[in-house]
Amino acid sequence: MDKPKGRIYLSPPHMTGREMDYVRDAFESNWIAPLGPHVDAFEREMAAYVGVKSALALSSGTAALHLGLKLLGVGPGDVVFCSSLTFSATVNPVMYLGATPVFIDSARKTWNMCPEALKRAFEAAERGGSLPKAVIAVDLYGQSADYDPILEICDRYGVPVFSDATEALGATYKGKRCGSLGKLAALSFNGNKIITTSGGGMLLSDNEEMIAKARFWATQARDPAPWYQHSDVGYNYRLSNILAAVGRPQLEEIEARVQKRREIFDRYRQELGGIPGVGFMPEAPYGRANRWLTVMTLDPEVTSLKPLDLMNALEEHNIEARPVWKPMHLQPVFEKYPFFTAEEDKPFADTAFETGLCLPSGSGLSEKSQDLIIAFLKESILIE
Ligand SMILES: *Cc1c(COP(=O)(O)O)cnc(C)c1O
Repeated sequence: MDKPKGRIYLSPPHMTGREMDYVRDAFESNWIAPLGPHVDAFEREMAAYVGVKSALALSSGTAALHLGLKLLGVGPGDVVFCSSLTFSATVNPVMYLGATPVFIDSARKTWNMCPEALKRAFEAAERGGSLPKAVIAVDLYGQSADYDPILEICDRYGVPVFSDATEALGATYKGKRCGSLGKLAALSFNGNKIITTSGGGMLLSDNEEMIAKARFWATQARDPAPWYQHSDVGYNYRLSNILAAVGRPQLEEIEARVQKRREIFDRYRQELGGIPGVGFMPEAPYGRANRWLTVMTLDPEVTSLKPLDLMNALEEHNIEARPVWKPMHLQPVFEKYPFFTAEEDKPFADTAFETGLCLPSGSGLSEKSQDLIIAFLKESILIE
């Protein structure tokens, strides 16, 4: 279960050591498939932890976003507003449903959906005579979006907010846990996330009827009849009992994992933050980020060094680092769709992409490995 010797990854799977006990239980009871008691328990435990009434375990976060948008009635011809600074999996489900995305810039102070830009997008939509069907707010790199102003604007127009909390399990917003904000929320248990079932996700809501409907769709839309009868199109999107067994012990340790990732962030900042031109993604004062990934920034007015230079320098030492998500409004597949910003000169999402670098941040990262990364970074930055 150790990571392959030598290479230091950005955010590799981190096993607690107790996963095999849970998986063994699944084998011994022959609950291999379909579904089973670990799936039910994982859903219950996650709903209790996040603080929502209902949860549905699914095969991926992307599946959760897809079914969530479908629940909100998104279909062909509809428009969905969406954070631009995110991973493409936030937007792909909008496309699966035949809808059109409209991208919203991020605010400098939070790196998340800018309420001012969102307001502008709504005003333009109102002038055009048609409102979006939903707004997807992303909790980027484990920091909550600023939900109060976002919800205020969306409530005014009667448009639901769907929270992409796939990177933010364990983070909070004004005392509430990420995943409990908005009408629906999606979580991910992909290999690089803060807990992993190898692949998996969840759809969360206080609205139990919505989750029940999504459960129906995710389980091949089988009508209650003695034979296989379908009056709707279904999906095969449920999480297996074996994979739910892998997730449960990690959820028990979520607080320690958040703590560890925050400590990793603090060490990077302490060691590197004093170097001219080096900065970090800020923590918004309204909550506690899980620091899923530490994002370092390089100020182009102070240093000519680019994030890719550092990425390549680390790669020579077999250390993985990655640029910040390339914004959706700059992606070849999405660049034709509208984009709203409140910035005068340059969208903040573009700045974040050009100046940010994600550093190894896994909760299993040893101090010794982090010391090495810090030493190599200092060397590369100071030589320049
Ligand atoms: C990981 C991620 C997803 C997708 O989750 P999967 O489980 O990999 O399908 C969606 N949105 C964001 C922002 C993510 O980081």
